[in-house]
Amino acid sequence: MTEAPRLCVVGSSNTDMVVHCDRLPSPGETVLGGDVMVAGGGKGANQAVALARLGARVALVARVGSDIFGDQAMVNLSRESVETRYVTRDKGHPSGVALITVDGRGENIITVAPGANGALSPADVEAAEEAIASSAALLVQMEIPAETVEAAVDAARDLGVRVVLNPAPARPLSDDLLGKVEVLVPNETELRLAAGVGEDVTVEKTARSLIERGCGAVVVTLGGQGGLVVTAEASARVPAFKVKAVDAVGAGDAFVAALAYGICSGRDLEGAAAFACAAAALATTRRGAQPSLPSLGEVERFLQVR
Ligand code: ADP
Repeated sequence: MTEAPRLCVVGSSNTDMVVHCDRLPSPGETVLGGDVMVAGGGKGANQAVALARLGARVALVARVGSDIFGDQAMVNLSRESVETRYVTRDKGHPSGVALITVDGRGENIITVAPGANGALSPADVEAAEEAIASSAALLVQMEIPAETVEAAVDAARDLGVRVVLNPAPARPLSDDLLGKVEVLVPNETELRLAAGVGEDVTVEKTARSLIERGCGAVVVTLGGQGGLVVTAEASARVPAFKVKAVDAVGAGDAFVAALAYGICSGRDLEGAAAFACAAAALATTRRGAQPSLPSLGEVERFLQVR
């Protein structure tokens, strides 16, 4: 058996507080919901946990507050076997918190208080150079300051480590950044904002415009439609698996992490995308972000019976 890949994630860590209710409140309105569900969240922590459950060795570079949510995050990450040596306890900012309300149809409203995530700095990335250097890939999202994303991507490039970028939340991307990314993994909204292109242009053409601007490949997630893998030479649809989806929260994070895991464990991009669709499909069958992320065994069993 080949050794489990090692990856480094630079990103956010939040505490998610989720309440399910029949319908979302209008401004000024109060609605009553079910019991609150408190779970680890933030795209950085979610993707680190997703990688660890898939069996990867993973270090997270993040910041949490010196508060009770930060305590919980550290315990939770350690329990998930995520290396927390580079998770800094910030003394000046509270932990990131996401307040999430979900209605009966799975629609949600999310308010994020970024807190300590906004203080994750290029110096934090520099302090984690050893973790980046020893990784097969750097995985980064955009819930942290732009200069920290750039520092992480630059460090990986300088160290010869491949870069997988999940450009979420959506924002325009510079040619400089794109030129250092091996695989970009946006959803359709993020793709269009990254490229500055409207809905009159196809997903494939939009993805190809980003490749022309310098990134190696683009894997677009398309919700219940699966994914689209676009390289300079070709493009391929990767169908979604048919499942009884109850909550898409966490599916994007499961997909991105499983794709990064896939390419670091020797799959080609299309194979990694199919593996990612399986992990993401499983995540849609369970509620919440981190609670819904599948283990490697679950993904393998799921793929065997398909
Ligand atoms: P995000 O939540 O980041 O916008 P998507 O909605 O595109 O991400 O979903 C990510 C991935 O999750 C998809 O590419 C697909 O593989 C999987 N997925 C999402 N919704 C479903 C569904 N209803 N059935 C099966 N797979 C799904």
